[in-house]
Amino acid sequence: MGKTIIKMEKKKRIALIAHDNRKIDLLEWAKFNRDLLAKHELFGTGTTGQLIENELNIKVKKFKSGPLGGDQQVGAKIAEGKIDFLIFFWDPLEPMPHDPDVKALLRIAVVYNIPIANNRATADFIITSSLMNSDYSRELVNYKDRIMKAEGKNLILT
Ligand code: PGA
Repeated sequence: MGKTIIKMEKKKRIALIAHDNRKIDLLEWAKFNRDLLAKHELFGTGTTGQLIENELNIKVKKFKSGPLGGDQQVGAKIAEGKIDFLIFFWDPLEPMPHDPDVKALLRIAVVYNIPIANNRATADFIITSSLMNSDYSRELVNYKDRIMKAEGKNLILT
């Protein structure tokens, strides 16, 4: 089966999410990198998106708040190929009511091979990468083949 390649344009579609205890960290990072972020299209869960928009004065497309389904909405956009970048400062010290959604989002980000930053150092390395200023072809692992083999199927999935 052929490889699946997803094109990321020069202008990246970046989703920004932070749990409550990490929002200040994300806001500080976003302020510091405002000019770099301004070159891209920004998305966010409800509260994080609003805070970033206010702080940076850059339009952010906002989904629902994380606990109300926002993480799942971001995951759906990744699966549809409409978000190609995830900056997600999750809280390593507090369990969340929507932990299953968080796990699902991180999982789908791996499935679709998008860059993920879960802390500031990773976000720093990613945002300053020369790849941020060029097109990039993301190659997807061929999970379809693996699923079919595991199930002994001989189907062509779309
Ligand atoms: P919020 O959601 O930006 O609406 O606070 C983030 C989350 O808890 O996943």
